[in-house]
Amino acid sequence: MTDLLNLYDLEPAPLERTLREVVSPAFRVRQVEEWLHRGVESFDAMTNLPKDVRARLQERFTVAQPTVISRTEPAADGSQKYLFELADGNRIESVFMPMGDRTSICLSSQAGCAVGCTFCVTGFFGAGRNLTPSEMLGQFFTIAREKQVAMEQMNVVFMGMGEPLLNFDHLVTTLDALYRNIAPRRVTVSTSGIIPGIEALARLERRPNLAISVNAPDRRRREEIMPITAKYPLEDLVAALRRFPLEKGRDLTIEYVLLAGYNDSTQDAIALAKLIQGLHAKVNAIPFNEDANLPSWMKRPSDRDIDRFVDTLVRNRVRVTVRRSKGRDIAAACGQLRGKEIAKSRATRVAAEGATSERPRRTASERASATDSRR
Ligand code: SAH
Ligand code: SF4
Repeated sequence: MTDLLNLYDLEPAPLERTLREVVSPAFRVRQVEEWLHRGVESFDAMTNLPKDVRARLQERFTVAQPTVISRTEPAADGSQKYLFELADGNRIESVFMPMGDRTSICLSSQAGCAVGCTFCVTGFFGAGRNLTPSEMLGQFFTIAREKQVAMEQMNVVFMGMGEPLLNFDHLVTTLDALYRNIAPRRVTVSTSGIIPGIEALARLERRPNLAISVNAPDRRRREEIMPITAKYPLEDLVAALRRFPLEKGRDLTIEYVLLAGYNDSTQDAIALAKLIQGLHAKVNAIPFNEDANLPSWMKRPSDRDIDRFVDTLVRNRVRVTVRRSKGRDIAAACGQLRGKEIAKSRATRVAAEGATSERPRRTASERASATDSRR
């Protein structure tokens, strides 16, 4: 592992100071900065710099990006998942999703996740360190380069592995660097509901879009599948969302993972509509992605049940989109590709510990009402 300072980890002012110590005159410093904006991954690619300047830079710094170690075959809709290796051997993944003029790249923000949502493969494998700005930017630059998509046309979503708001400072450095190529309204940060992080985002001058993984219509069920709810209660989270400043034309995105028989009834849709009433928000319903590492009771609802849930939201004047095919083909919920690799080596241990937990029990009346709503 190299000990050299990665220039992509520096904010603009320290970057300029650092470069000035090694490079002169001033226009050469600007040339280096321009190459960094374009996302080059070597000093040799900085072709308008004299060889001796490149050599001096190379001695002191690096502009390395994570290494691609595998890619899935593109799915029917063109989505492709990338597995990257970091300098310390950690593995993370990113997803490329072509969608006409709305091509998106989904980035990881941590090499694991301590939040521990029970439906999430990343959460299942546990905490991982914060990614540095160079590691987050590197995922983006590498895929943009490989796919030859103009960066300005790209949307970036922080919906990969990890909780971006628990890596706040590095996230902000990364956002500022991305904004040199992409408008803030094309960038979305997804959170499990870290309230202090949401409040810190609200104070930024240039804010990304905010997506919140709500995933349950009430506090009790949310706490069952998202233990972080005990620390940041659902009611407080919704209150923080009400205070979140939104630019004209922007919406919050409420993510809602649909689990068959658990949070997908007509009543659940009505309760969700009520919970987010008055918020400037649209719902993104995400049918659960099954995975061998996750509790066996967790299932993707049938298409009929997904339609019924969505229709109920619409009837309750909630705007909603469904992420349907994406991911059914390529296991889009991030972490699942890395999960498969780790699973091979951990399978025995996991089996010994009985890691697939029991489905949280429901009371008789809850079971009855869940059934009622389906009639
Ligand atoms: N930590 C952040 C961002 C990464 S998770 C967050 O939780 O928002 C991105 C999205 O994937 C979240 O909305 C999460 O609810 C969803 N997700 C996780 N595991 C999933 C699975 N197995 N099936 C479907 N969606 C899943
Ligand atoms: Fe972490 Fe998000 Fe997965 Fe929850 S859903 S464990 S917050 S990555």
